[in-house]
Amino acid sequence: MDGNPESDLMFVGEAPGFHEDRLGKPFVGAAGKLLDGLLEYIGLDRSGCVICNVIKCRPPANRNPEPDEIASCTPYLRAQIEFIKPTVIVTLGNFATRFLLERQLSITRVRGQIFRTFGAKVIPTLHPAAALHSGGVGSPQYALIRSDFDLVKRELATARPVPAPAPAPAAAGPVAPAPDAGPLVEQGSLF
Ligand code: URA
Repeated sequence: MDGNPESDLMFVGEAPGFHEDRLGKPFVGAAGKLLDGLLEYIGLDRSGCVICNVIKCRPPANRNPEPDEIASCTPYLRAQIEFIKPTVIVTLGNFATRFLLERQLSITRVRGQIFRTFGAKVIPTLHPAAALHSGGVGSPQYALIRSDFDLVKRELATARPVPAPAPAPAAAGPVAPAPDAGPLVEQGSLF
């Protein structure tokens, strides 16, 4: 896990690669650089989010995680989510999305939508490696991830509690109603 456990925003990736396994930190390789650029795009860095993976150590030869490996690691991820209590969780790619949403969904079908689970809004997006393998920041995949990050930024802004105005000194009479934050907009949830 990396970042700030006090933050509202959590990213969940798939599994550590070679560099991540060596350093014990998620997303420190090329996909991590892309993720850092996307964070910067929405005005954040790693101190404004927390980053973790479904699988806690590197599958041999970077193969896809097996179901028993997912089953062994997800209690830790579950505990991380329960401890951090993020308001927005971004799932990066198929494995994180399927774990969080408990369905065999395809990331290309559900990316850019908002789901509710684990007490958070879950926004699936493509794994940064998918953009990397298709040409990086100039790729259509990167553009899709960026548009999903626009949504993340909007949701974070509405999820953060607005500080209460200072009470008026010795004001008598009824308390004014809190300003209405307006309805929450959900983008075509599958549920
Ligand atoms: N890909 C992931 O899903 N996680 C990492 O930590 C690095 C690359």
